[in-house]
Amino acid sequence: GCYTTSVIAGVSERTLIAVKPDGVQRRLVGQIVQRFEQRGFKLVGMKLLQAREDILSQHYHDLHKKPFYPNLLRYMSSGPVVAMVWEGHNVVRTSRLMVGNTNPAEAYPGTIRGDYSVHISRNVIHASDSVEGAQREIQLWFDRRELVDWDCCDHSSSYQV
Ligand code: UDP
Ligand code: MG
Repeated sequence: GCYTTSVIAGVSERTLIAVKPDGVQRRLVGQIVQRFEQRGFKLVGMKLLQAREDILSQHYHDLHKKPFYPNLLRYMSSGPVVAMVWEGHNVVRTSRLMVGNTNPAEAYPGTIRGDYSVHISRNVIHASDSVEGAQREIQLWFDRRELVDWDCCDHSSSYQV
């Protein structure tokens, strides 16, 4: 039956996923959304936006001293991104595995980066790398009211309740 996610411990973990400008340009949004839906995660927020510089600099604040940082910000602001919040058991760790290694040359086939990209500077997708990081990034990219609490009717197919 349908249970609110908060009833089941550990199921309400959330992560920020973003299809980067190259992924949007290459019309990979649908394929990427499909992978998260099919895995069994629940979409609770989604929007297409041209990312503002201040959001990007906060999002990548830990990388601001890296040599690739200026190019990274230029890349991320070169076109629209699709920002999403996905929810489910272990979604942070599982989505990192689905996304694959930062460097597409090291990303296994079957992962999103391993299937759709070849170079680290155009690696198609972002995924939060920790539960704390995910909370910070979700607050940065989304207003509370943009996140929807809803009961997925096939919840019991993905979770033992
Ligand atoms: N990046 C890059 N060159 C590098 C390392 C990273 O262009 O040598 C970019 C790449 O787009 C990567 C992003 O910076 O996805 C953030 O780097 P991070 O180490 O956080 O990798 P991620 O968490 O995205 O796998
Ligand atoms: Mg990262």
